Amino acid sequence: MKVQFSKIKEGWVELNKEVQISLEKTINSGFFIGGKILEDFENKFAKYSRSNYCVGVSSGLDALMLALKALNIGVDDEVIVPSNTYIASWLAISHCNAMPVPVEPNSKTYNMDIKKIENRITKKTKAIMLVYLYGHVVDIEKVLIIAKKYNLKIIIDAAQAHGSKYNKIDIGSHGDIVCWSFYPGKNLGAMGDAGAITTNSNKLAQKISCLRNYGSNVKYYNSFKGFNNRLDTIQAAFLIEKLKKLNKWNKKRKKIAGIYINELKSLDLTLPTEESYCKHSWHLFVIRLRNRDKFQAFLKEKNIQTLIHYPIPPHKQKCYKELNLNKFDLRLTEQISKTIISLPISPHHTEIEIEYVIENIKKSFKRKN
Ligand SMILES: *Cc1c(COP(=O)(O)O)cnc(C)c1O
Repeated sequence: MKVQFSKIKEGWVELNKEVQISLEKTINSGFFIGGKILEDFENKFAKYSRSNYCVGVSSGLDALMLALKALNIGVDDEVIVPSNTYIASWLAISHCNAMPVPVEPNSKTYNMDIKKIENRITKKTKAIMLVYLYGHVVDIEKVLIIAKKYNLKIIIDAAQAHGSKYNKIDIGSHGDIVCWSFYPGKNLGAMGDAGAITTNSNKLAQKISCLRNYGSNVKYYNSFKGFNNRLDTIQAAFLIEKLKKLNKWNKKRKKIAGIYINELKSLDLTLPTEESYCKHSWHLFVIRLRNRDKFQAFLKEKNIQTLIHYPIPPHKQKCYKELNLNKFDLRLTEQISKTIISLPISPHHTEIEIEYVIENIKKSFKRKN
Protein backbone atom coordinates (compact mmCIF):
# COMPACT_ATOMS: atom_id res chain seq x y z
CA MET A 1 0.00 0.00 0.00
CA LYS A 2 1.05 3.57 -0.62
CA VAL A 3 -0.13 6.35 1.69
CA GLN A 4 0.21 9.94 0.54
CA PHE A 5 0.64 12.72 3.07
CA SER A 6 -2.39 14.68 1.89
CA LYS A 7 -5.01 13.85 -0.73
CA ILE A 8 -5.76 17.22 -2.30
CA LYS A 9 -6.64 15.82 -5.69
CA GLU A 10 -9.30 13.50 -4.25
CA GLY A 11 -11.05 16.53 -2.74
CA TRP A 12 -11.45 18.15 -6.13
CA VAL A 13 -12.46 14.87 -7.75
CA GLU A 14 -15.31 14.67 -5.22
CA LEU A 15 -16.32 18.20 -6.23
CA ASN A 16 -15.95 17.65 -9.98
CA LYS A 17 -19.55 18.54 -10.85
CA GLU A 18 -19.53 21.65 -8.67
CA VAL A 19 -16.26 22.78 -10.25
CA GLN A 20 -17.70 22.56 -13.76
CA ILE A 21 -20.78 24.54 -12.71
CA SER A 22 -18.63 27.20 -10.97
CA LEU A 23 -16.52 27.57 -14.07
CA GLU A 24 -19.58 28.15 -16.26
CA LYS A 25 -21.07 30.54 -13.71
CA THR A 26 -17.89 32.60 -13.67
CA ILE A 27 -17.64 32.74 -17.45
CA ASN A 28 -21.28 33.77 -17.72
CA SER A 29 -20.87 36.46 -15.03
CA GLY A 30 -18.31 38.23 -17.23
CA PHE A 31 -16.24 39.14 -14.11
CA PHE A 32 -12.82 37.56 -13.68
CA ILE A 33 -11.55 39.97 -11.04
CA GLY A 34 -14.08 41.16 -8.46
CA GLY A 35 -17.81 40.97 -9.12
CA LYS A 36 -20.75 39.31 -7.37
CA ILE A 37 -19.17 35.85 -7.08
CA LEU A 38 -16.24 37.28 -5.14
CA GLU A 39 -18.61 39.25 -2.88
CA ASP A 40 -20.68 36.14 -2.36
CA PHE A 41 -17.64 34.19 -1.16
CA GLU A 42 -16.52 37.05 1.07
CA ASN A 43 -19.96 37.23 2.70
CA LYS A 44 -20.11 33.48 3.17
CA PHE A 45 -16.63 33.24 4.67
CA ALA A 46 -17.28 36.20 6.99
CA LYS A 47 -20.37 34.41 8.24
CA TYR A 48 -18.59 31.06 8.50
CA SER A 49 -15.75 32.53 10.57
CA ARG A 50 -18.11 34.76 12.56
CA SER A 51 -16.76 38.14 11.61
CA ASN A 52 -18.37 41.26 10.20
CA TYR A 53 -16.10 41.60 7.16
CA CYS A 54 -14.05 39.40 4.85
CA VAL A 55 -11.74 40.72 2.14
CA GLY A 56 -10.39 38.18 -0.35
CA VAL A 57 -6.71 38.54 -1.28
CA SER A 58 -4.14 36.71 -3.38
CA SER A 59 -2.45 34.54 -0.70
CA GLY A 60 -1.88 34.00 3.00
CA LEU A 61 1.40 35.89 2.91
CA ASP A 62 -0.31 38.83 1.20
CA ALA A 63 -3.09 38.77 3.79
CA LEU A 64 -0.50 39.08 6.57
CA MET A 65 1.40 41.81 4.78
CA LEU A 66 -1.71 43.87 4.02
CA ALA A 67 -2.89 43.45 7.61
CA LEU A 68 0.36 44.91 8.93
CA LYS A 69 0.28 47.72 6.36
CA ALA A 70 -3.32 48.53 7.27
CA LEU A 71 -2.22 48.85 10.90
CA ASN A 72 0.54 51.25 9.79
CA ILE A 73 3.36 48.99 10.90
CA GLY A 74 6.63 49.96 9.26
CA VAL A 75 10.24 51.05 9.75
CA ASP A 76 11.54 50.92 13.35
CA ASP A 77 8.51 48.99 14.58
CA GLU A 78 8.81 45.65 16.31
CA VAL A 79 6.31 42.84 15.95
CA ILE A 80 6.26 39.92 18.35
CA VAL A 81 6.02 36.66 16.41
CA PRO A 82 6.34 32.95 17.25
CA SER A 83 9.80 31.49 16.69
CA ASN A 84 8.07 28.20 15.88
CA THR A 85 6.12 28.98 12.74
CA TYR A 86 6.13 28.87 8.97
CA ILE A 87 8.40 31.55 7.56
CA ALA A 88 5.52 33.48 5.92
CA SER A 89 4.57 34.94 9.32
CA TRP A 90 8.06 36.46 9.57
CA LEU A 91 8.35 37.50 5.93
CA ALA A 92 5.20 39.61 6.15
CA ILE A 93 6.81 41.60 8.98
CA SER A 94 10.09 41.96 7.10
CA HIS A 95 8.31 43.12 3.94
CA CYS A 96 6.86 46.01 5.98
CA ASN A 97 10.43 46.88 7.04
CA ALA A 98 9.55 46.06 10.63
CA MET A 99 11.50 43.78 12.98
CA PRO A 100 10.30 40.27 13.89
CA VAL A 101 10.87 39.63 17.60
CA PRO A 102 10.64 35.89 18.26
CA VAL A 103 8.96 34.27 21.26
CA GLU A 104 9.43 30.59 22.05
CA PRO A 105 6.54 28.11 21.99
CA ASN A 106 4.74 26.23 24.69
CA SER A 107 5.90 22.61 24.26
CA LYS A 108 2.37 21.21 24.50
CA THR A 109 0.55 23.31 21.88
CA TYR A 110 3.63 24.41 19.87
CA ASN A 111 2.10 27.91 19.84
CA MET A 112 3.59 31.07 21.31
CA ASP A 113 4.19 30.77 25.06
CA ILE A 114 2.04 33.58 26.41
CA LYS A 115 4.10 33.82 29.60
CA LYS A 116 7.13 34.84 27.53
CA ILE A 117 5.50 37.71 25.64
CA GLU A 118 5.91 40.55 28.16
CA ASN A 119 9.68 40.05 28.39
CA ARG A 120 9.99 40.85 24.71
CA ILE A 121 7.94 44.07 24.71
CA THR A 122 9.95 47.27 24.18
CA LYS A 123 9.08 50.88 23.35
CA LYS A 124 9.19 49.90 19.69
CA THR A 125 6.70 47.04 19.94
CA LYS A 126 3.58 47.76 17.90
CA ALA A 127 1.87 44.41 17.51
CA ILE A 128 1.72 40.74 18.40
CA MET A 129 1.32 38.23 15.60
CA LEU A 130 -0.12 34.93 16.76
CA VAL A 131 -0.11 31.79 14.65
CA TYR A 132 -2.69 29.05 15.26
CA LEU A 133 -0.16 26.43 14.27
CA TYR A 134 -1.40 23.03 13.03
CA GLY A 135 -4.95 24.25 13.80
CA HIS A 136 -4.60 24.69 17.59
CA VAL A 137 -5.79 28.12 18.72
CA VAL A 138 -4.01 30.35 21.27
CA ASP A 139 -5.65 31.29 24.59
CA ILE A 140 -6.45 34.66 23.04
CA GLU A 141 -8.15 36.22 26.06
CA LYS A 142 -4.84 36.15 27.93
CA VAL A 143 -3.07 37.83 25.01
CA LEU A 144 -5.79 40.49 24.77
CA ILE A 145 -5.02 41.52 28.36
CA ILE A 146 -1.33 42.00 27.50
CA ALA A 147 -2.16 43.85 24.27
CA LYS A 148 -4.46 46.21 26.12
CA LYS A 149 -1.89 46.90 28.83
CA TYR A 150 0.78 47.90 26.29
CA ASN A 151 -1.53 49.26 23.59
CA LEU A 152 -0.54 46.67 20.99
CA LYS A 153 -2.37 45.43 17.91
CA ILE A 154 -3.04 41.73 17.41
CA ILE A 155 -2.78 39.98 14.06
CA ILE A 156 -3.74 36.33 13.83
CA ASP A 157 -2.23 33.97 11.27
CA ALA A 158 -5.07 31.44 10.92
CA ALA A 159 -3.71 29.85 7.72
CA GLN A 160 -3.95 26.41 9.37
CA ALA A 161 -7.09 26.94 11.43
CA HIS A 162 -10.16 27.01 9.17
CA GLY A 163 -12.95 25.73 11.38
CA SER A 164 -11.02 25.91 14.66
CA LYS A 165 -12.85 27.45 17.61
CA TYR A 166 -11.89 29.21 20.81
CA ASN A 167 -14.20 28.49 23.73
CA LYS A 168 -16.70 27.15 21.20
CA ILE A 169 -16.68 30.37 19.14
CA ASP A 170 -15.42 30.75 15.56
CA ILE A 171 -12.18 32.68 15.37
CA GLY A 172 -12.78 35.12 12.49
CA SER A 173 -12.92 38.23 14.64
CA HIS A 174 -10.02 37.54 17.00
CA GLY A 175 -7.66 40.42 17.70
CA ASP A 176 -7.63 43.24 15.12
CA ILE A 177 -7.25 41.22 11.91
CA VAL A 178 -7.34 37.50 11.16
CA CYS A 179 -5.39 36.32 8.11
CA TRP A 180 -6.24 33.22 6.12
CA SER A 181 -4.52 31.23 3.38
CA PHE A 182 -6.43 29.12 0.88
CA TYR A 183 -3.29 27.49 -0.49
CA PRO A 184 -4.41 24.13 -1.99
CA GLY A 185 -3.20 22.03 0.94
CA LYS A 186 -5.01 23.99 3.68
CA ASN A 187 -8.27 22.73 5.21
CA LEU A 188 -10.07 25.22 2.97
CA GLY A 189 -7.89 25.17 -0.12
CA ALA A 190 -8.44 26.81 -3.51
CA MET A 191 -7.24 25.47 -6.86
CA GLY A 192 -4.23 27.76 -6.72
CA ASP A 193 -3.04 30.63 -4.55
CA ALA A 194 -5.68 32.52 -2.56
CA GLY A 195 -6.21 34.13 0.84
CA ALA A 196 -8.38 36.48 2.86
CA ILE A 197 -8.57 38.64 5.93
CA THR A 198 -11.50 38.79 8.34
CA THR A 199 -12.17 41.49 10.92
CA ASN A 200 -14.94 43.25 12.80
CA SER A 201 -13.46 46.65 11.92
CA ASN A 202 -15.14 48.36 9.00
CA LYS A 203 -12.24 50.79 8.75
CA LEU A 204 -9.58 48.09 8.48
CA ALA A 205 -11.65 46.01 6.04
CA GLN A 206 -12.06 49.04 3.79
CA LYS A 207 -8.40 49.92 3.97
CA ILE A 208 -7.31 46.38 3.06
CA SER A 209 -9.88 46.26 0.28
CA CYS A 210 -8.32 49.44 -1.08
CA LEU A 211 -4.69 48.27 -0.56
CA ARG A 212 -5.26 45.00 -2.44
CA ASN A 213 -6.40 47.00 -5.48
CA TYR A 214 -3.58 49.51 -6.12
CA GLY A 215 -4.77 51.60 -3.17
CA SER A 216 -7.88 52.55 -5.08
CA ASN A 217 -11.59 52.28 -4.32
CA VAL A 218 -12.68 54.35 -7.28
CA LYS A 219 -11.05 53.48 -10.60
CA TYR A 220 -8.03 55.72 -11.32
CA TYR A 221 -8.21 57.49 -7.93
CA ASN A 222 -5.48 56.22 -5.61
CA SER A 223 -5.53 57.11 -1.93
CA PHE A 224 -2.74 54.69 -0.89
CA LYS A 225 0.36 53.29 -2.58
CA GLY A 226 -1.33 49.94 -2.91
CA PHE A 227 -0.63 46.56 -4.42
CA ASN A 228 -2.17 44.06 -6.78
CA ASN A 229 -3.17 41.45 -4.20
CA ARG A 230 -6.67 40.51 -5.33
CA LEU A 231 -8.44 37.16 -5.08
CA ASP A 232 -9.37 35.76 -8.51
CA THR A 233 -13.11 35.41 -9.10
CA ILE A 234 -12.67 31.83 -10.31
CA GLN A 235 -10.92 30.87 -7.04
CA ALA A 236 -13.75 32.52 -5.09
CA ALA A 237 -16.25 30.43 -7.11
CA PHE A 238 -14.35 27.22 -6.26
CA LEU A 239 -14.01 28.26 -2.62
CA ILE A 240 -17.79 28.74 -2.30
CA GLU A 241 -18.17 25.04 -3.14
CA LYS A 242 -15.31 23.92 -0.87
CA LEU A 243 -16.70 25.93 2.03
CA LYS A 244 -19.91 23.89 1.90
CA LYS A 245 -17.82 20.79 2.63
CA LEU A 246 -15.49 22.26 5.24
CA ASN A 247 -17.30 21.19 8.41
CA LYS A 248 -17.89 17.69 7.12
CA TRP A 249 -14.30 17.36 5.96
CA ASN A 250 -12.97 18.73 9.26
CA LYS A 251 -14.98 16.04 11.07
CA LYS A 252 -13.14 13.42 9.02
CA ARG A 253 -9.83 14.94 10.03
CA LYS A 254 -10.95 14.85 13.66
CA LYS A 255 -11.90 11.21 13.34
CA ILE A 256 -8.46 10.32 11.96
CA ALA A 257 -6.78 12.33 14.73
CA GLY A 258 -8.87 10.39 17.27
CA ILE A 259 -7.79 7.06 15.80
CA TYR A 260 -4.12 8.07 15.87
CA ILE A 261 -4.36 9.29 19.47
CA ASN A 262 -6.10 6.15 20.63
CA GLU A 263 -3.75 3.77 18.84
CA LEU A 264 -0.47 5.53 19.54
CA LYS A 265 -0.96 6.62 23.15
CA SER A 266 0.98 3.74 24.66
CA LEU A 267 4.08 4.35 22.52
CA ASP A 268 7.11 6.37 23.60
CA LEU A 269 6.21 9.52 21.64
CA THR A 270 4.53 12.87 22.27
CA LEU A 271 1.03 13.19 20.85
CA PRO A 272 -0.64 16.50 19.99
CA THR A 273 -2.91 18.02 22.63
CA GLU A 274 -6.20 19.84 22.40
CA GLU A 275 -6.52 22.28 25.29
CA SER A 276 -9.94 22.75 26.89
CA TYR A 277 -10.41 26.19 25.27
CA CYS A 278 -9.63 24.82 21.78
CA LYS A 279 -11.54 23.08 19.06
CA HIS A 280 -8.78 21.81 16.79
CA SER A 281 -9.07 21.88 12.98
CA TRP A 282 -6.46 19.08 12.68
CA HIS A 283 -4.79 20.68 9.70
CA LEU A 284 -1.69 18.72 10.68
CA PHE A 285 -1.16 15.79 13.05
CA VAL A 286 2.25 16.35 14.53
CA ILE A 287 4.02 13.97 16.89
CA ARG A 288 7.39 14.26 18.55
CA LEU A 289 9.90 11.47 19.13
CA ARG A 290 13.56 10.53 19.44
CA ASN A 291 15.31 9.27 16.29
CA ARG A 292 12.88 11.15 14.10
CA ASP A 293 14.94 10.78 10.93
CA LYS A 294 15.23 7.00 11.28
CA PHE A 295 11.51 6.81 11.97
CA GLN A 296 10.73 8.83 8.86
CA ALA A 297 13.03 6.67 6.75
CA PHE A 298 11.35 3.52 8.07
CA LEU A 299 7.89 4.82 7.10
CA LYS A 300 9.20 5.87 3.71
CA GLU A 301 10.41 2.32 3.13
CA LYS A 302 6.82 1.24 3.78
CA ASN A 303 5.55 3.75 1.20
CA ILE A 304 4.15 6.11 3.84
CA GLN A 305 4.75 9.79 3.12
CA THR A 306 5.41 12.07 6.10
CA LEU A 307 6.55 15.70 6.28
CA ILE A 308 8.27 18.00 8.77
CA HIS A 309 6.52 21.27 9.69
CA TYR A 310 9.07 22.79 9.80
CA PRO A 311 12.62 21.45 9.50
CA ILE A 312 14.43 24.82 9.81
CA PRO A 313 13.00 27.58 12.02
CA PRO A 314 12.89 31.09 10.50
CA HIS A 315 15.73 32.42 12.70
CA LYS A 316 18.03 29.69 11.31
CA GLN A 317 17.29 30.58 7.68
CA LYS A 318 19.96 32.15 5.51
CA CYS A 319 17.65 35.05 4.68
CA TYR A 320 17.56 36.07 8.38
CA LYS A 321 21.29 35.86 8.98
CA GLU A 322 21.65 39.65 9.03
CA LEU A 323 19.18 40.11 11.88
CA ASN A 324 21.58 38.77 14.48
CA LEU A 325 18.98 36.82 16.35
CA ASN A 326 21.55 34.95 18.42
CA LYS A 327 20.77 37.14 21.41
CA PHE A 328 17.48 35.28 21.72
CA ASP A 329 17.60 31.83 23.27
CA LEU A 330 15.45 29.78 20.90
CA ARG A 331 16.62 26.35 21.93
CA LEU A 332 13.15 24.89 22.36
CA THR A 333 12.19 25.84 18.81
CA GLU A 334 15.36 24.23 17.49
CA GLN A 335 14.77 21.10 19.53
CA ILE A 336 11.17 20.88 18.29
CA SER A 337 12.25 21.19 14.67
CA LYS A 338 14.55 18.20 15.11
CA THR A 339 12.01 15.90 16.77
CA ILE A 340 8.64 16.60 15.12
CA ILE A 341 7.04 14.71 12.27
CA SER A 342 3.63 15.15 10.63
CA LEU A 343 1.62 11.99 9.91
CA PRO A 344 -0.73 11.63 6.91
CA ILE A 345 -4.10 13.27 7.53
CA SER A 346 -6.85 14.56 5.25
CA PRO A 347 -10.59 14.11 4.73
CA HIS A 348 -9.90 11.64 1.95
CA HIS A 349 -7.67 9.11 3.69
CA THR A 350 -9.45 5.81 4.27
CA GLU A 351 -9.42 4.07 7.64
CA ILE A 352 -7.52 1.24 5.99
CA GLU A 353 -4.76 3.67 5.02
CA ILE A 354 -4.60 5.11 8.53
CA GLU A 355 -4.51 1.62 10.04
CA TYR A 356 -1.61 0.77 7.74
CA VAL A 357 0.24 3.86 9.01
CA ILE A 358 -0.45 2.91 12.64
CA GLU A 359 0.59 -0.70 12.14
CA ASN A 360 3.92 0.43 10.70
CA ILE A 361 4.49 3.00 13.42
CA LYS A 362 4.04 0.18 15.96
CA LYS A 363 6.45 -1.99 13.97
CA SER A 364 9.06 0.75 13.96
CA PHE A 365 8.86 0.93 17.76
CA LYS A 366 9.27 -2.83 18.05
CA ARG A 367 12.52 -2.40 16.13
CA LYS A 368 13.56 -0.15 19.03
CA ASN A 369 13.55 2.84 16.70
C1 LIG B 1 0.38 28.44 4.48
C2 LIG B 1 0.75 29.38 5.53
C3 LIG B 1 1.00 30.74 5.25
C4 LIG B 1 1.15 31.28 3.86
O1 LIG B 1 0.06 31.13 3.05
P1 LIG B 1 0.26 31.27 1.45
O2 LIG B 1 -1.15 31.32 0.96
O3 LIG B 1 1.01 30.07 1.00
O4 LIG B 1 0.99 32.54 1.21
C5 LIG B 1 1.25 31.58 6.30
N1 LIG B 1 1.28 31.14 7.57
C6 LIG B 1 1.07 29.85 7.87
C7 LIG B 1 1.10 29.44 9.30
C8 LIG B 1 0.82 28.92 6.86
O5 LIG B 1 0.63 27.65 7.19
